[in-house]
Parts: sequence; C-alpha cells; structure tokens
Amino acid sequence: MAVTPKSHQGGCLCGSVRYVVSGDLLYSANCHCRSCQKAIGAGFVTWVAVKTENLEVTKGEITYCETSPGMHRGFCGRCGSSLEGHGDGWEDSFVTAASLDDPKIVKPVTNIYLDHQQPWVIIDETLRCHEKFPD
Ligand SMILES: [Zn+2]
Ligand SMILES: [Zn+2]
Repeated sequence: MAVTPKSHQGGCLCGSVRYVVSGDLLYSANCHCRSCQKAIGAGFVTWVAVKTENLEVTKGEITYCETSPGMHRGFCGRCGSSLEGHGDGWEDSFVTAASLDDPKIVKPVTNIYLDHQQPWVIIDETLRCHEKFPD
C-alpha cells in the first residue's frame, strides 16, 4: 500500500488561489499586533508556521504587500483573503489558519503582542501569553 505523504490544502474565499502544505504544520500562534488587526480586519490572526519549502501555490498566485520593512503579507488579489506572511530571512512561512480547508486541526499554543489586544477579544489564559514577540 502506498504511503500518502501528509499534506494540508487551503485557499482563498473566491477559489482563485489554492495552496498545499506538504509535511507537518509546525506550530500556531494568535497574533494580536495592530498590523495583523488591520491586515485581516479582525481582533487577531491565528497563524500556522510551515517550512517555506513545503508551501506550494497550486492555483493562481498570491499577491504580496510589504506592510512594514521586511514583512510581506500575501493575499488573494481578487477577493482579498489573507493567506500567507513571512519576513525577510525567515526560515518559516506562516499561513492563516482560517484559510486551511480544515482549520479545526490547528491548535494555537501562544498569544503574542498582547500589548495590542483589543478589549473585546477574550484571551484563552491556558495558552502561553506574551506582551510582545517572545525571545
Ligand atoms: Zn480569492
Ligand atoms: Zn501580528
């Protein structure tokens, strides 16, 4: 019996952009920074780290915007769904948990940039919590 490699598919709301992550999802964090709030239009973003070489766009293309120096946010140029983010020189890429076809498999382990937390966002205190980006 052939062994099927583990992979996770995802894409944007309108279906123009599809991607596949081969291998494991590495870890997940809820980011409460103002840039994520603005970029997504929500209180925080749940990101999932993946090895950059394991992320492949299989349909369409991701449109990128350098939203702060060295930080690149990727989204669908048609429907605007946020899909990916990475910084210059980062080993890992980060996909948005909600853009995965099966977001329920994601288990965030930490909250970061809680110094930007909105008062209407309820924090899961069982997760590790950081005011800024952990060292
Ligand atoms: Zn789209
Ligand atoms: Zn952020």
